[in-house]
Amino acid sequence: MEKKKETIKTEKEWRQRLSPEQYHILREKGTEPPFTGEFLKNKEKGIYTCAGCGAELFSSGKKFESGTGWPSFYSAKDNVTTKSDSSFGVRRVEVLCKKCGGHLGHVFDDGPKPTGKRFCINSCALGFRKKKPANQK
Ligand code: FE
Repeated sequence: MEKKKETIKTEKEWRQRLSPEQYHILREKGTEPPFTGEFLKNKEKGIYTCAGCGAELFSSGKKFESGTGWPSFYSAKDNVTTKSDSSFGVRRVEVLCKKCGGHLGHVFDDGPKPTGKRFCINSCALGFRKKKPANQK
């Protein structure tokens, strides 16, 4: 049986919590225009989180330059789940936050080694937490 989602909010609550653009992507499965996202060129070390619920989704170490115009990762953390998507008559695999069910983007099989995966993610669906300085290691 599927585990019950930990973050359940009404659509009204989501609208209050998220910006219109975030709402469109996370709750209505929208896509931001390419080359517009604030994290596309982010090279800082840290953790990308869900803009909806704060769950940790991707590590900066797994980010790569895909040239597509969206932040791309070749591996995801456990809070990320996938689901087949046939909207627009195209068979794709949707990427979602496991905790809040927010839409993040899609995953493709043309990514780099070692996974061969390309998680193509909307910047707008993400937050970013910078890694603590190395002296605290
Ligand atoms: Fe989430």
